[in-house]
Amino acid sequence: MNYDFSFYMPVNILGGKNALQNNKNIFSTLGKKCLIVTGKSSAKKSGALDELIAVFDELNIEYTIFDEITENPLTKTCCDGGKAAREFGADFVVGIGGGSPLDGAKAVCVYATNPHIINDDIYTADVTNKPLPLVVIGTTSGTGSEVSGVSVLTRENGRKQSISGKNYYALYAIADAKYTYSVPFRTTVSTALDALAHAVESMFSPRADFLTQQFALISIKMIYPVLQKLHDTKELPNSEERDTLYFASLYAGFALNKGGTGFPHGMGYALTEDYNVPHGIACAVFIPQYLTEAEKSNPDLFNQVLDSMNCDKSTAEKLIADLCDLQLSIPDEKIKGYVARWETLKNFKNSPTDFNNEDAGLLVKRLF
Ligand code: NAP
Ligand code: FE
Repeated sequence: MNYDFSFYMPVNILGGKNALQNNKNIFSTLGKKCLIVTGKSSAKKSGALDELIAVFDELNIEYTIFDEITENPLTKTCCDGGKAAREFGADFVVGIGGGSPLDGAKAVCVYATNPHIINDDIYTADVTNKPLPLVVIGTTSGTGSEVSGVSVLTRENGRKQSISGKNYYALYAIADAKYTYSVPFRTTVSTALDALAHAVESMFSPRADFLTQQFALISIKMIYPVLQKLHDTKELPNSEERDTLYFASLYAGFALNKGGTGFPHGMGYALTEDYNVPHGIACAVFIPQYLTEAEKSNPDLFNQVLDSMNCDKSTAEKLIADLCDLQLSIPDEKIKGYVARWETLKNFKNSPTDFNNEDAGLLVKRLF
């Protein structure tokens, strides 16, 4: 067996039931003043914000809340968050939410200590000062942002673009799946599909190795039966299934952190930008084609993926297409624009075959 691998993931994950309360001592080590970065509702609905405030009151940590982070967070909003952190004199940041607030919080930490970086400069400017320390508390089972050194932001021109590297890892992740119990049905489906896409895409990435492929396979094995149940019953998962989805999203995050994503993620951004399609669905709709490419390139690994799903390819394709349930009609002119734009996309090179931007245009035409 060839088990060569290298793995770097510097986040200290503190997991388990009541992980926040059980590990509250970490906050005192980070300082006396905290900026809490969230979206409008998830931090409250999940129960995480109230629990964090109770801990801060107990520890005499002063806090202020920046709840401006929207879905697909804008660089400008995160830059405003950085300014808020400076004005408050925050020693550290806690991000609470799904991928959007967590990615937003990562960027806030960079902007906070680097006032020369304004909005889209974050993609190019030197980060000369160390970002503020960050604790993340995830409330969805999808992005794995808790364990990746990646932040996906939206540029001033409305285009989504990721940024990655050592400045984009949290210091601690509090991993308690109970915060995901309030996620509504459609977001549960979309986020589970996102995690599945991370596992499947990273599996066939040229950067993947033995260890990340094991993480991906475990993740697929955990997610697939829950997706099947969501599909068949249209009911919310029970708490055990919620826990399974959450930990599967972390495994997929470990795999993504090394392997990165392939063409489904690159292509999916356009559907979110132009048609407001939730991120996971926007990417997963291209997974059936990705599986076709994967089968051509590495039949052995492809069979391992199907074994983890415990089904054949056409069954998996139908399940994913049914769950995505996308009824879009995309005009030819728009597709031409995408094809030109996708020419430079790194995600195509990070895919198993020479599937290119022209092929991608034909795929979009066939699907929509
Ligand atoms: P999200 O955009 O963070 O949240 C989607 C919706 O679900 C929001 O309305 C949110 O409310 C709500 N929500 C979240 N948690 C909830 C809870 N516990 N109870 C009730 N409602 C809840 O969704 P996401 O799929 O987790 O994140 C998607 C973003 O992450 C995209 O921008 C995507 O590009 C990015 N992403 C990042 C990585 C990475 O490695 N960093 C990987 C993949 C994707 P609020 O608006 O109140 O928050
Ligand atoms: Fe994703």
